[in-house]
Amino acid sequence: MIFENTFQKFLEVKELFKSLIGDGQKIGEIFKILEKPQREIKVYLPLKKENGEIDIFEGYRIQHNNFLGPYKGGIRYFQEVNEDEIKTLAFLMTIKCALVGLPLGGAKGGIRVDPKALSEKELENLSREYVRKIYDFIGPEKDIPAPDVNTNSKIIDWMVDEYLKISNSNDKKLKATFTGKSIENDGLEGREEATGKGGEIILERFIQKLNLQKPLRVAIQGFGNVGYNLAKFLYQKGYKIIALSDSKGGIYSEEGFNPELVMECKKEKGMISGCYCIGSVCDSNLGNDISNEEILELDVDILALAALENVIHKYNADKIKAKIILEMANNPITEEADEILNKKGVIIIPDVLANSGGVIVSYFEMLQNLNNEKWNKTKVFEELEKYLTKTFDEVWEIKEKLNIDLRKAAFILSLKRIYEKYIS
Ligand code: NAD
Repeated sequence: MIFENTFQKFLEVKELFKSLIGDGQKIGEIFKILEKPQREIKVYLPLKKENGEIDIFEGYRIQHNNFLGPYKGGIRYFQEVNEDEIKTLAFLMTIKCALVGLPLGGAKGGIRVDPKALSEKELENLSREYVRKIYDFIGPEKDIPAPDVNTNSKIIDWMVDEYLKISNSNDKKLKATFTGKSIENDGLEGREEATGKGGEIILERFIQKLNLQKPLRVAIQGFGNVGYNLAKFLYQKGYKIIALSDSKGGIYSEEGFNPELVMECKKEKGMISGCYCIGSVCDSNLGNDISNEEILELDVDILALAALENVIHKYNADKIKAKIILEMANNPITEEADEILNKKGVIIIPDVLANSGGVIVSYFEMLQNLNNEKWNKTKVFEELEKYLTKTFDEVWEIKEKLNIDLRKAAFILSLKRIYEKYIS
């Protein structure tokens, strides 16, 4: 169901794209091909638990399209992972990689598991079993997985280790099979912060175009890798972070939080609630707790969605008061909600653009491994900025020229690149 709805958003630009390019037959073919993934891998993963029992977990790797290059996309661990969701996210990866001009296709993977319910050793064993099951389908020229929700460099390092063991090879280039590795394991400096940094670069470009003046008031749903780093970079650029939330709830203060201190406090307490850290102090009198529903409905300049998909839907879209929404999560707004928000005049900076920093920097990590180089963070962020500003400006130009929203403009640019490759 999610896939059909997401694809529907994409289908909306079909006629427009045809009118721009004129090659109706080829464009029809492309849409038909993109409607189905090229390969869906479903695996069952037995795990012997520490209590001696065996549990079987479902895992997926869905390879959507590789017209532009090897498949690329994250792996998520989540108790609600399912085929439809992974297929949708794989499709969005195809669109995203094409949009930003990477020589990569789209894929996504996941395991249906609550990682918090496993011990570290169990999680490691499960991650290794997943690699054993998908081994034949991945590699630097086939498919390059990365971290996503509830997966991190530690998990990716286990996966790399398992992959190298099975390969029985010491070829360092094989490490390019995975991105998001730890720095000690030939990962890339800045990869962990890249998606948040990318969101900041895109937002800065956007507010320049609209000539908006800071301080702008921002609320961010999700305080994991993406939400935290976005908050940190926006704070450094003079935005006022007035609300933050994670799965257990959120915090609010008009004074504006210092995200780095909030993260330190969250690490100590295990939750964000009560972490009212402003300037250089955390004080229980400086803020209020709010729920995850309330954070979405705050009257802010910018609402950044950095948790999960479908958090804005037809039942809450009308209550959204933000003027701008930055989609850092993939697919956080349903198709129906997208329509309602567009009618209300809310400007949406779409996921495929806003969160593409992660995959761009993943690509740099691949290059670093394949060319046996060592990039530093300054170079990583400079190169990232080049990719993102170029892409943003191209999307903006299409939006202005055709008088369409940013999502449609991004789809048009992405399609243009897929079409050019398809006919070449
Ligand atoms: P993460 O696991 O590090 O963090 C997820 C955050 O969302 C956590 O703070 C969690 O507490 C919070 N959360 C979970 N359920 C929630 C709920 N119901 N309400 C509010 N918060 C909730 O994951 P991440 O890597 O930060 O990814 C976040 C989103 O960004 C995902 O949609 C992911 O697909 C997308 N994304 C991630 C990357 C990347 O590089 N990590 C790249 C592109 C897109």
